[in-house]
Amino acid sequence: MPGKVDMDKIVSLCKRRGLIFPSSEIYGGLASCWDYGPMGVELKRNVRDAWWKSIVHERDDVVGLDTSIMMHPGVWAASGHIDSFTDPLVECKSCHLRWRADAIEGKGCPKCGGELTEPRMFNLMFKTSMGPVEEEASTIYLRPETAQGIFVNFDNVITTSRKKLPLGIAQIGKSFRNEITTGNFIFRTREFEHMELEYFVKPGTDEEWLNYWVKERFDWYVKLGVRKENLRLRQHGKDELAHYARDCYDIDYLFPMGWSELEGIANRGDFDLIQHAKCSGRELGYYDAEAGEKYVPYVIEPSAGVDRSVLAFLIDAYDEEEVEGEKRTVLHLHPSLAPIKIAVLPLSRNEKLTPLAKEVFNKLCPNFVTDYDDSQSIGRRYRRQDEIGTPFCVTVDFESLEDKQVTIRERDSLAQIRVPIEGLEKVVEAKLKGESFNASPLWATRQK
Ligand code: ATP
Repeated sequence: MPGKVDMDKIVSLCKRRGLIFPSSEIYGGLASCWDYGPMGVELKRNVRDAWWKSIVHERDDVVGLDTSIMMHPGVWAASGHIDSFTDPLVECKSCHLRWRADAIEGKGCPKCGGELTEPRMFNLMFKTSMGPVEEEASTIYLRPETAQGIFVNFDNVITTSRKKLPLGIAQIGKSFRNEITTGNFIFRTREFEHMELEYFVKPGTDEEWLNYWVKERFDWYVKLGVRKENLRLRQHGKDELAHYARDCYDIDYLFPMGWSELEGIANRGDFDLIQHAKCSGRELGYYDAEAGEKYVPYVIEPSAGVDRSVLAFLIDAYDEEEVEGEKRTVLHLHPSLAPIKIAVLPLSRNEKLTPLAKEVFNKLCPNFVTDYDDSQSIGRRYRRQDEIGTPFCVTVDFESLEDKQVTIRERDSLAQIRVPIEGLEKVVEAKLKGESFNASPLWATRQK
């Protein structure tokens, strides 16, 4: 079942409003690579910040980490990526296009119908070499996940953080996978950003913690405005589990191409710590001083993609409405995700209005990401802000010069209120936190 929003509309909005551009576009683009524009970079950063806040800052049992993208090749041998991080690939004997064998329906090439080769395993890690000589010994890989940087630092973190188990270690960063089939915009790309938590627990409590994290992560999307009916949980079947996993759930989202994985939450057991201990020769365990026992922790891993989350948030927020006979495209983004929180729009570029409008902007911008726009008609400027999901616009008009008040317009309800410039930051802050907008609509303030 496909989702209701057309992906082309999202791609076109992203291009039009400076959210996401094709990479290297002036050279014809590079397959599956995308650049985040001035609005996109803010949105992406807000997604990362919302995750970090809920996973690291709002808890006392998780700490952060930022490890390097290039790691010792032994890491990937131990983790199983060199042997098992593969997809079966078939090649068309006529047009030589390659396809993921498990994604093909029927026997022929999906493009030209040509005969396909037998499947061959293809490793998804990007290889490069370190140092000036390109030789086998200098081969290293770009990380395909951030998780391994966490496992190899387990001992460093445990001994320096003075924390007890259960303890989580979180990381956000770029990952690289030489995916065979990319596409659906930023859904599947070869370079993307991971948000991963490795939550280390005592064996025996792992099932409970898995359930806990599945709920936490599901609720995170809902809290940030994703409609529940567009989310579902799916437990992996036994035959589907990755080599390291004891159990796994996907949080799926109803993307335009149908239900697809948004995030995976796996119980990795003690696979990774045992493997790294074995291959590095360093002991990786935990001594529980209270119980006087030593054990190798199990780990629960919620693993999400920043880009894929951005896409889900965009799709879920996208709406086309009719307002006073005109079509309005709007992103109903949660205020904490919106690239711009508030836009200051003087009614016109009149020299009398500009100083006051700038004064309002200067008052707001240290507190909120604020835009200032005095070009074109006010209607067009509202439309632009609606399309990038700006929750509030402040208009400075000629009356403002007299009464030192401005009008705040709310994106979703289109309600307007008139408020004094003095103390405007406080009002905006309360509104961004969800204070009801209709408490004092414009007409009521004007009747006073
Ligand atoms: P898929 O089955 O879609 O390839 P996966 O199960 O291999 O994904 P994980 O390794 O579990 O993915 O990664 C966790 C999350 O990272 C995914 O749910 C997704 O949000 C994101 N992710 C993984 N691969 C990509 C990619 N190629 N492009 C963008 N995001 C990705």
